[in-house]
Amino acid sequence: MTDILRNFTTELHGVSQREKEELIIETLTDAETVAGVRVHERAFLPSCELVFSSELLEYCKSNVCGNYNKSWTCPPACESMEEQRKKILSFENVFVFTTTHKLEDSFDYERMTLGRELHTSLTIEFKKRRGGVPVYGAGSCPVCDFCAFPSPCPFPEKKIGSIEAAGINVTELSKSAGIAYNNGPNTVTFFSMTLLNPR
Ligand code: SF4
Repeated sequence: MTDILRNFTTELHGVSQREKEELIIETLTDAETVAGVRVHERAFLPSCELVFSSELLEYCKSNVCGNYNKSWTCPPACESMEEQRKKILSFENVFVFTTTHKLEDSFDYERMTLGRELHTSLTIEFKKRRGGVPVYGAGSCPVCDFCAFPSPCPFPEKKIGSIEAAGINVTELSKSAGIAYNNGPNTVTFFSMTLLNPR
């Protein structure tokens, strides 16, 4: 258990919140078994500790990742950053988890792709067990090889939102959550974030 989780569960929300969080961790453990991948780190944090930056929209528009106007979860198709910020803040807490994957070297795209697929499966399994609660990952939705956009999304129940398109920088998220963004040379780390406790 991380210090953040320990402090948060014992100091801020008491036993009943701890029980809720233990249930979430059990759900994640079930999802890990089905997806065949272990979580590397996890943390609960109050949504008010998230740092939102509207400047990320300019970064999206510059289309460095190539997904601008290509995915239902990226601008301009997704909800606006302000709408997403309000939605996230309408939940009291967020739960962040990562998986990390060893690579042969920094050009090992095969293992990078496999790691991304395993992390996506884990996130989908977790979402399914949590009754379709909103989940977010770094980058555009990774569920399909090519997003169906602008045709309708065939898998809305699996859809994974974009952390950046919600105005959250993943490195800032890792700092707020107290979990590592980078786990050393020749590794790749994937993030998921989910919303807990609607207000
Ligand atoms: S599930 Fe597929 S079609 Fe739907 S948003 Fe994700 S990548 Fe696009």
